[in-house]
Amino acid sequence: MSSNQEAISKIIDFMASDHKILLVQGTNQNEKHSLVLEVIVTVPNPPKTVLFRANSKRNMDSFLNTIFPINTRYETGKPYKLRGGSTIYIDTINRASQQKSPRQVDVAVVYPVDSLNVESGDENLHDLLNRGARKIIFVSWTDNVDISWLDMHNPMKITYDAIEENPAYHSRVKEAVSKARRQTQIKNLPSYAARISSEYLVKMLCRGKCNGGRWAKLNKPYPGLRTLHNAELGEYTAICLKCGYEADDNYNWYRP
Ligand SMILES: [Zn+2]
Repeated sequence: MSSNQEAISKIIDFMASDHKILLVQGTNQNEKHSLVLEVIVTVPNPPKTVLFRANSKRNMDSFLNTIFPINTRYETGKPYKLRGGSTIYIDTINRASQQKSPRQVDVAVVYPVDSLNVESGDENLHDLLNRGARKIIFVSWTDNVDISWLDMHNPMKITYDAIEENPAYHSRVKEAVSKARRQTQIKNLPSYAARISSEYLVKMLCRGKCNGGRWAKLNKPYPGLRTLHNAELGEYTAICLKCGYEADDNYNWYRP
């Protein structure tokens, strides 16, 4: 089976399954969300209402013009027709754009999941659950950002790679992804901290044996300084990578 056929049959499996959340990844950068939107309306018992949630209204045209081209700008709160009789609405991951979206949605497609972090991802997921979504499909663009926040919700996962259709393109994307991953590394880390993925690193004053500034490992990915400082006591913990001291004074931690 080609990766295209395999992705199609897995999307169909997901639609018939008890799984609520799907994550579609892979090197087929601009094809994955299109494939999802095409397949979900062809299953038996297709969704009445689909919500396509993008990272920005500016990108709507390039995301959607091959799926349901229109002559004007895509607007929130407006129903558009898809094949198979389904109705699709659009909005974005920004809350202000969601006010006109239907209160009841059958299937939501969020693209690209790369634009969400642990905070905005959680916020959007709960908004879609509150709209009664039976199925929520997150689609990645390049797979070079940390989306481990989604793992807490046990998504079914599909990989749609461009490898058979276009091996050269596939390897270019893979290369870009590993380059981007390298760029997110923090520079000049001491050797005791270098083995930890940079998403989990913060600097803190270790009040254990070290009694000094040390790199520490967070219990979950670094969410940005403001969120880290505003978090309630106990939500974040950090373990000194030198002596193992566990701290919970998150309002003191930082990234140099
Ligand atoms: Zn220490």
